Amino acid sequence: MSVICVIGTGYVGLVTGTCLADLGNTVTCIDIVQEKIDRLNKGILPIYEPGLEEMVERNVQAGRLRFTTSYPEGLENSEFIFIAVNTPTGNNQGGADMRYVESAARSIAENLDHYAIVINKSTVPVGSGDVVSRVISNNLKSPDASFSVVSNPEFLREGAALLDFQNPDRIVLGSSEPEAAHKVARLYLQLRAPFVITDLYTAEMIKYASNAFLATKISFINEIAQVCERLGADVKQVAVGMGYDKRIGHSFLDAGLGYGGSCFPKDVRALAHMADEAGLHPQMLRAVMDINHDQRRLVVTKLNNLLGSLRGTTIGILGLAFKPNTDDMREAPAVDIIHWVTSQGAHVRVYDPVAAETGREALMRENVNLQDVTFCKTSYEVADQADALVVVTEWNEFKSLNMQKIRAAMRQPILIDGRNIYEPSEMSRYGFTYRGMGRATSP
Ligand code: NAD
Repeated sequence: MSVICVIGTGYVGLVTGTCLADLGNTVTCIDIVQEKIDRLNKGILPIYEPGLEEMVERNVQAGRLRFTTSYPEGLENSEFIFIAVNTPTGNNQGGADMRYVESAARSIAENLDHYAIVINKSTVPVGSGDVVSRVISNNLKSPDASFSVVSNPEFLREGAALLDFQNPDRIVLGSSEPEAAHKVARLYLQLRAPFVITDLYTAEMIKYASNAFLATKISFINEIAQVCERLGADVKQVAVGMGYDKRIGHSFLDAGLGYGGSCFPKDVRALAHMADEAGLHPQMLRAVMDINHDQRRLVVTKLNNLLGSLRGTTIGILGLAFKPNTDDMREAPAVDIIHWVTSQGAHVRVYDPVAAETGREALMRENVNLQDVTFCKTSYEVADQADALVVVTEWNEFKSLNMQKIRAAMRQPILIDGRNIYEPSEMSRYGFTYRGMGRATSP
């Protein structure tokens, strides 16, 4: 078993550190935010992820997992140092902001006093492994310090992160020192996943290409949805029919409000930026982003088509998080939609099973006037006297609502199903004016 340090205790760092501890390693997680570490030391997690709290508790109690803000403490005796800090979109036309990665690399350099393998788990532009290498080399303090750099992009999905860590489709490792990559591979041997061991640049690119491909599938089906809507076909059934073709597959063919979250939007932007900078013209990536943006607007267009002006109306919103089983609000469609409808004079009533707090913060950050928003405790409260109800996140509990009760609570029975979770004919039977995304009943 190994001694491991994980830098960053967000979705990726906390899950990686905890799961590596669960495999029997001794793990210290570092974060620069003192409050986060204080709370983690009290057993309070900064994120919602199914099963994570129990796993953290189990490993802390077993003495395999601890949290600190101190780099010297975290790096002590560590054989493997994972960098799992955020790489948001920067101010450079969509490129990734490498500030946090570079700062982590500097802190490693200043505190390392032995040989360690530095593993980059953050999603970083192609070539960043070299940057990390340079930053560490230029700032090393101890004569006993030396290091190798390995790229190990992360593919976990929020909401299913533990399962994804434990059952990865593949583990990608890239390095100019194959021996270092093989040592990292040994950490994952118990998971019995296929390994792709390659060079640094290729490993970094695999992550971007994978995310861009999945985003493309989503935008593709959303474009088809718009055509379906115009021509009277039902995109949900079209996707089922397409998905049975093994070359296509069923996943990522759900038409709806498009992708959000902390990865797809920023990663597609960053890849397009890399291509631009290389003198290329990434036209497909641009189309993927444009379609995704337009998809959110469609909800407001549908509301305007049915209600005319939104001034003085009450719009119910089911779901805030960018997808179910997470409280992550980064680039969530709900924020744009609430922003647009409140700017048109509507009042919003909203409910999300876990993202109320993060949702409130995200709306504040986007300058939504919170006086225009009522946070409710249930979906039925949201429906109360609403002129329209919009499904924004496909939480399971929304699929099994008592729709008769919902219908009875509303002032006008308008249902915009932004995630196509209901059957149009069933909703018509309940008396709703139903509009899905690319469904046969939509005008
Ligand atoms: P996050 O914002 O949830 O967490 C990042 C953490 O790093 C924060 O707690 C922050 O305080 C900490 N941090 C920043 N600078 C630091 C420093 N110098 N030293 C110590 N801690 C520092 O981010 P995330 O969602 O976990 O994503 C991390 C990386 O993994 C990103 O590059 C992201 O693109 C990638 N990724 C994310 C997911 C996902 O589903 N969230 C999936 C795959 C890959």
